[in-house]
Amino acid sequence: MNVKLLDLTAQYLPIRNEIRRAIDEVCDAQALILGPAVERFEKKLAAYCNTKHAIGVSSGTDALLCSLMALGVGPGDEVICPSFTFFATAGCVARLGAKPVFVDIDPRSFNIDPAKIEAKITPKTKVIMPVHLFGQCARMEEINAIAGARGIKVIEDAAQAIGAKRNGKPACSTGFAGCLSFYPTKNLGAFGDAGAICTNDDEFAENCRLLRVHGSGHAYHHKFIGGMFRLAAIQAAVLEVKLKYLDEWHEARRQNAAVYNELLAGTKAVPPPIEEGNYSIYNQYVIRVPGRDRVKQRLTDRGVGYAVY
Ligand SMILES: *Cc1c(COP(=O)(O)O)cnc(C)c1O
Repeated sequence: MNVKLLDLTAQYLPIRNEIRRAIDEVCDAQALILGPAVERFEKKLAAYCNTKHAIGVSSGTDALLCSLMALGVGPGDEVICPSFTFFATAGCVARLGAKPVFVDIDPRSFNIDPAKIEAKITPKTKVIMPVHLFGQCARMEEINAIAGARGIKVIEDAAQAIGAKRNGKPACSTGFAGCLSFYPTKNLGAFGDAGAICTNDDEFAENCRLLRVHGSGHAYHHKFIGGMFRLAAIQAAVLEVKLKYLDEWHEARRQNAAVYNELLAGTKAVPPPIEEGNYSIYNQYVIRVPGRDRVKQRLTDRGVGYAVY
């Protein structure tokens, strides 16, 4: 038997007709970039994340980049991020000429350890960027307390955590802004690259909307030097269909995780500990295990997909 690490076909087949119809509508309308399909999805996404605004952009990476640009992050600034994350988190900081300052993670949750943040704050610290790794929220209330007292903004890298909750509050709604990725392997995946920024701040949202089209509000008037971070209508149409099923899919993943937890109990493998108050969406189910290479070989021999994180 072959077990794939991720089988997107299994998710696609039951909603194939609905998705193809949504794509067809965009083809017929020929409004291909931004426009009504994107606006419709943005409204539903904002409601889902419990934020006032959602701004559809071209990828999760561009969501991070655009957010940092909207806060004016640049040379001379420092941005605190966890040392264990996907490359984009710190990469976007460095790309703007700012300095990523790494804070170690809590080895249980794999998320930034709030107790280690304070020591890394300097007068140059402009942003703290916690990552909700593998679908579990970082300890936002502690991070917000540290940041709020100093006027530092908190941008959540929620690329792996759409719909994850901490004390009932969804990812993206607990920081100043949250960044989402709809890369196909994320819990909500587009049919290509896509991302979004969610926030309650009107001015920040407006600036992100301008930055995603080269800082331009209307033809030939450019308020800032921005980027080309536009979301394609076909991606928004696919995402709007999938968003309806997302909570159901989260629940199915959580049930699978519970089965794994049970099966792994009493073995040397350490299942992912979920902190109290957290609702994980298990973007990945990541275990720690002694003798990793031996385990990898066994999985390969039996045709079971895996990845090292
Ligand atoms: C996927 C991911 C990103 C980047 O998203 P893309 O859509 O691939 O650009 C950023 N941060 C984290 C933690 C991610 O997992």
